[in-house]
Amino acid sequence: MWAASGALAATGIAAAGWGTMAHGQDLLQHPAQMHAQVGPQVQPMEASDQILAREVLQQLIETNTTHREGSTTKAAELMRRRFLDAGFAEKDVSLVGDAADRKNLVVRYRAASSTEKPVLLLGHLDVVEAPREEWTVEPFQLKEADGYFYGRGTQDMKNSDAAMVTSFLLLKRAGWVPKRDVILALTADEEGGGDNGVEWLVKNRRDLIDAAFAVNPDAGGLVLVDGRPVEFDLAATEKVYADFVLSATSAGGHSSRPVPENALYLVSDALGRIERSPFPIELNPITRAYLEAEARRESNEKRQLISRVLKPKMDMDDANQLTLDSGYNAIMRTTCVATMMQAGEAENALPGKATANVNCRILPGHSVEEVRKQIVAMVQDIRVKVQYRAEDGSLTDTAPDKPSMTAAALIPEVMKPLRAVTQAMWPGVRIVPEMESGSTDSVYTSAAGIPTYGFSGMGIDTSDARAHGRDERLRVTAFYTGVTFMREMVKQLGGE
Ligand SMILES: [Zn+2]
Repeated sequence: MWAASGALAATGIAAAGWGTMAHGQDLLQHPAQMHAQVGPQVQPMEASDQILAREVLQQLIETNTTHREGSTTKAAELMRRRFLDAGFAEKDVSLVGDAADRKNLVVRYRAASSTEKPVLLLGHLDVVEAPREEWTVEPFQLKEADGYFYGRGTQDMKNSDAAMVTSFLLLKRAGWVPKRDVILALTADEEGGGDNGVEWLVKNRRDLIDAAFAVNPDAGGLVLVDGRPVEFDLAATEKVYADFVLSATSAGGHSSRPVPENALYLVSDALGRIERSPFPIELNPITRAYLEAEARRESNEKRQLISRVLKPKMDMDDANQLTLDSGYNAIMRTTCVATMMQAGEAENALPGKATANVNCRILPGHSVEEVRKQIVAMVQDIRVKVQYRAEDGSLTDTAPDKPSMTAAALIPEVMKPLRAVTQAMWPGVRIVPEMESGSTDSVYTSAAGIPTYGFSGMGIDTSDARAHGRDERLRVTAFYTGVTFMREMVKQLGGE
């Protein structure tokens, strides 16, 4: 840990930004950091840099980028102006996309000359809806109160967009030139809506974003408990999202004279069978590393349970017991769960049709079609159709059969700088590889052969996860620390 700090000091890294905020309390200070802070390598983030970071965040938060009324193009244009003003060449700042309101901005921070493939940074500009009546503050205004920034996107993920933009601007101003190109893609449609974002870029403008690997701060990152850093999550693989529609039809008629083959019963029986047939438990290198790390935080009893599960020959009773915890269950197997159902037209009529939506989160290495077939096998009833619902809502009898991304290898190119910067900023905080059970744009870049790693330095309290929720907020100190972290990572990844 000390060696890392020393090495960073020698290369000029200012491991700073967390101790000197205007807001007094050192919420991000780790006990072990007390020593690190007195070292000469610690320089506070410049006040003027903080102002810039805050301005960028404010501009992004106050530009509505929701799907209903918003526009990512507007936000992209505002950022584009900043890059041009900072001296980035016109040809390196591209506003691209097919849909007028859903454009992407791709900025290339050019190396003097390089034979190495670039590094890609990803950030989605769109945010989910924020109904004003559900919030106690204006969702599309940046408000600072009680040591927090409030506003839609302060956690997901305009905070990190601002950090990446600010890092590029600060490094440019300092005259820094990377050893390999560093690309920043600010994109549309991550939160749904269409495929104008990363998916579009991969398909239509691969030349703009092609890279050796990518960093996507939409997943993983620094975890706080009561404002203190406890671990640093590295998302190196993801579960895949898929919806299936189960449907059955029946003759209908008057409810006073029930007949067999009631569509509603057929579908609900099928759902019951799915619930009673859990998918097999399966661990991969990332989930193993995750369980190993988690075990250390658990009670003695649970720790022993986990270590038994991790033995080369897994005891199924132990594994099943661990999956009683819904959090562990979600990473140990593919899960499918009924989420919606429609049937019937009147209280006193037999239903002519019943449909239900089953939402699945699929483990890496499996295809959506494979899971559809497994559901068919669980249902065991040819009267119930099992169709795949594509993102655009269309139904098909088969699903994509390409296996999903496998776990990204923890390559030294990423891990070395990540260890160095995290240890300099939060000594003693461990990096925990994990599998997200949500789904981010990393799916697209990974599928395109660009291994993608999810992490950010924006500490969020485990009890304060408000992404997609009401009164979304981020600690002010966490924001500036996160910007500092990103600036250092960009420098390290770009080859200082
Ligand atoms: Zn997000």
